[in-house]
Formats: sequence, C-alpha cells, structure tokens
Amino acid sequence: MQKYWGLVFSLLFIVSCKEDKPVTDEIAEVVTIEKPVIVKEFGFNLDDFEVLRDTVKNGDSFGELMLRNSVEYPKIARVSEHFRDTFDVRKIVVGKPYLILKSKDTANNAQVFIYQNDPINYTVVDFRDSVLAYKKKQKVKYVEREASGIIESSLSEAILKQGIDYNVTNSLSEIYAWTIDFFRLQKGDRFKVIYKEKYINDTIYAGASGIEAAYFEHNGEPFYAFNFVSDSTKNINDYYDDQAKNLRRTFLQSPVQFSRISSRYNLNRRIAYYGYKVRPHKGTDYAAPIGTPILATANGTVTESTRRGGNGKYVKIQHNGTYSTQYLHMRKQHVKKGDFVKQGDVIGEIGMTGNTGGPHVCYRFWKNGQQVDPLKEKLPAAEPIADSLKTAYLDFVGPKKSQLDCIEYIELPEEDLLTLNE
Ligand SMILES: [Zn+2]
Repeated sequence: MQKYWGLVFSLLFIVSCKEDKPVTDEIAEVVTIEKPVIVKEFGFNLDDFEVLRDTVKNGDSFGELMLRNSVEYPKIARVSEHFRDTFDVRKIVVGKPYLILKSKDTANNAQVFIYQNDPINYTVVDFRDSVLAYKKKQKVKYVEREASGIIESSLSEAILKQGIDYNVTNSLSEIYAWTIDFFRLQKGDRFKVIYKEKYINDTIYAGASGIEAAYFEHNGEPFYAFNFVSDSTKNINDYYDDQAKNLRRTFLQSPVQFSRISSRYNLNRRIAYYGYKVRPHKGTDYAAPIGTPILATANGTVTESTRRGGNGKYVKIQHNGTYSTQYLHMRKQHVKKGDFVKQGDVIGEIGMTGNTGGPHVCYRFWKNGQQVDPLKEKLPAAEPIADSLKTAYLDFVGPKKSQLDCIEYIELPEEDLLTLNE
C-alpha cells in the first residue's frame, strides 16, 4: 500500500483548464532555456574585461584584494572614506561571491569590483575614473506557477516530491495555520496553489515567492485562500476565503510547526505507571526534536517563565481576560515574565525538563481559569474584509477562483492500479 501511494505521487501531473498540457513541461522549458551568451552582467559588458570570479575567503580584506589586483592605495582609501554608507569594506562576509573586472591591457589592474550581497542585491565599486560606489538590484522576473498534490503522509513531502520549493510548504502552512490542523491531515487531503517564482536575469531561479491563491481540501471540506491587499496605504495584505472571511484566528492551531501530536487532551486518561488509575491529561502534547522552536499561539503578556516540579521549565502567557496558554517541559525559555509577545514569536525550545518520557511540549489552554481542549474550542476569527472593500474583493477573487478550480489532479491509469494492488 505504501508503495502504491508513493507511485501515485511520482505520477502526479498538473493540468490547467486552458491549455491541456502538464505544467511540468512548462517548468522544464524555463529551466532548460538555451542560455544565451550573456555579455551583460551587473550592467557591464564582460567582454570588455578580464573577469575574475571568486568568493570572500577567511582573512580576506577588501583592501588587500584590491592591492593584489593593482589598485592604487589612495583609491582604496577613498572607498572607506567616502562611501561607507554604500559599501562598508569592513563588513564583507566570508563566502559571498564577488567579481573583479580587470583591464585587458598590460596594466591589468582592477577597474570594477562587484560584491554580491545576496542573489538580488549587489554593490559596485568603480575605480575607472574618480572612485564611485553604488548599490543595484538584479532584474527580477516573476513567473506564475500552478501546482497541486494529494497528501500521502505530510504536506512537505507532497510538495517536495514534485520538486517544488520548500517555501511553498512553509507559506501554505502559515496561510492555513489557523484553519487546518496540519497534524491531522488525512491521506487523500489535497491542495492546489497558485504562486510565483523569481528569476534573476530571466534565467537564474531564485526561489518561490508569495502564494496568490490556494485551495485545500481537508476531510472533504474546501478551504479557499486568496491574498488581498486590504489596506494599500499601510500595505497590509492578508488571506481571505471565498466568503471574504479572514483565514486568521486569534490563536494558532499549534505551538510547533511540523511536529506531531503525541498525546491529546483527555480527562479519562489511564496510565500503566499509576496502576491504570485515571490521570487526566489537560494538555495537548506535541512531540518534536529537542531545540525545536515553540511559538506563542497568540499575542499576550508572559505571566510566568520559570521552572517548577513536573512541569519543568515553562512559560505561561495571558492573552486577554478570557484566555491564557502554557507551554511545558522546555529546554530553554526565550522570554521572561512581563514580556509582551506576538503571535508566532519564539518563546522557547522543545526540551525534556520535568516529568516527561521524551522531547515534547505540553500545550495547555486556559479559558476563564479552566483548562480546556483548544482543538475543540470555537476560536474567534480575525478582522473580516471591510464592507466597503467587499465588492472589490469578490471582483478580484472571481478569476483566481476559476483558475484554481481549473487545476486538475490526474488519476493513475486503471491497469496500473490493478497491478499495484496485487
Ligand atoms: Zn502533556
């Protein structure tokens, strides 16, 4: 059975309504684009220079690199004197790539130094005339992509198996963190997503960017998500469903990303160690490796950050007059009493302090002073879209929704299923 599901995955294709061809082909096209002979890079015609490409090595200094390449000392000094705000020569980082463009004549001296701050941003130091330093960005092109998948065991696996950027998994789990319990995904849950990929200079893949729209079917129930700018002056954007309701809730579904629930809230729990007597478990245990970050599930103020008995090292946060949450068995707390924390802030690390058989966080959810099961609570939603924006939102979302609905899941041919079932 395990093998069968694996195969379903590897044979998954994605087809859009309009063109009846797999998107995988399109991706292949982009990746295998005949590389044109790039003459221009970083705004320079590289044919005009002798090009030296390297990365900053341990012990390298900008001054030495330049002296080694025949730049006169006064020019080097000018960079640190006059262009510190643009290029702080003391802050070059080991491992970062750089280019030195040298003259092709007998002097063979460095004329331009290009430091790559990251795949998109770079700094140019031009020694040709009087010294000049400036920052620039690579030309970035965004290409829209569609993807879909059916869950076998986890979302990350479903996405990685298709060779899709890990960022897509991360973004999906953030978008749905309030609405879908990712620890209770069912085999057969499925998703569709429209996202963008970044390409530098049309050719170099630079990762997946934001998700524009998504569809997640969990237990047969549909969950749409559309990114929408709800306040253009403050540049606030959020994800809303097809009814214009905000996908966020006041609480995250869980305090740990990508872990598993090892023990649920259970008032009738019996434990062998205690002679099968009832020992209620008023928390939800999330197992994860030691050191995994534990997140505050909502904004609030830390009321306790201490170590006590069986709880070990723990943090308790008061969110409002009704709700508090508590996180036990930490290896280490990252907050102290009185701190204000925001939803998603790392407040500690998974550990094994206090009474525990293995690394996990025992998550306790208090409502009006009583411990309740957060997975059964109806938790309040965040702000919906303003009424004045609703029409604009629905107009915007209409075509995106059709596009999502058009993404298909292709089934395996029947004969393959038969052989595999044997
Ligand atoms: Zn527990």
